[in-house]
Amino acid sequence: MIDGRYFLPHSARFIAARAELMDGKTLRVCGTDGSVLAEAPFRKVKISSRLGNIARRLTFADGAVFETYDNDGVDDMLAEARRFFHEGWVDRLERSWRTVVVSVLLAGAVGAAFFVWGLPAIALQLALHTPADVAKLMSDQTMSAIDSAYLKRSKLSPTEQKKAQVLFGRVASHAPRGENGYRLLIRGGGPLKANAFALPDGRVVMTDELWALVKNDDEIEGVFAHEISHVDRAHGLQRVYEASLIPAVIAVVTGDLSQVSQLSVLLPAILVQSAYSRQNEEEADDDAVEILKRMGAKPARFADLLARLNAKNCGKKDCEPGWISDHPETEVRIEHLRAAEGKK
Ligand SMILES: [Zn+2]
Repeated sequence: MIDGRYFLPHSARFIAARAELMDGKTLRVCGTDGSVLAEAPFRKVKISSRLGNIARRLTFADGAVFETYDNDGVDDMLAEARRFFHEGWVDRLERSWRTVVVSVLLAGAVGAAFFVWGLPAIALQLALHTPADVAKLMSDQTMSAIDSAYLKRSKLSPTEQKKAQVLFGRVASHAPRGENGYRLLIRGGGPLKANAFALPDGRVVMTDELWALVKNDDEIEGVFAHEISHVDRAHGLQRVYEASLIPAVIAVVTGDLSQVSQLSVLLPAILVQSAYSRQNEEEADDDAVEILKRMGAKPARFADLLARLNAKNCGKKDCEPGWISDHPETEVRIEHLRAAEGKK
């Protein structure tokens, strides 16, 4: 507390007053009775320099002046304000470090979210908007790669093949693209064993080995409906784009071009190892149930085939190559399909 005189703005009139620095940053001038005469941020108050014993003037923005001979008191105020300013600055720096850490974490989260949600969403849009001739070209190349690497000529009799085609046609006629929108190819499975998969352009491949396991028309119709749904939802293309976007993003960010060369072999690998997501599978199953119900076929029969394949091909740890090993969470799917049968 410093004693002095308070001059009203631009006036020679004054009254006895006391000045005080509050919290290191606010200058308050009070009358001797304690009433507040002026108050302002200390840094906005102009303070005259110390010159011998001349009175110091603390001038407010509005022109009011606090005048005092207590030079030491004013210097103490300046020191306190400076200290407060520096502490405040350290404080702000600490806060800004917290901001930096939070920003880094946020950026990481945004990056992760981009890979988890952004890329699949972009891939899905690309997949759904892929022109038919592009899908056909990709399917041609993929099919010839898989044919030469794995598949054999079918050994099914013409009658069996005809029957499979008729069942496939029935399913296709209840699917969005209609009977001519899809095509069934029958092959010996070779190392792919009992299997079925869909190409982006609407071709569905079924192996002899899978056909051999079928005991009821509804069962294989379920497989066809499921694969047709993968076509309609462009799941294969979505996977390819997703798998290509990640190396593409890495290549763009790091300039590592070796990532790009992997792209061309993606689709055959994806279809053969069937890297569909669980969500893709659930969608395909749900669509299959819808199609089967429209046809008057029984989804639970489809579940029977899954259960049979599961029992035949899957040991305690892993599944043999084939349609089941490509389609994880089989028990969950079987239950889901059987439950769907009950719902109308
Ligand atoms: Zn599937």
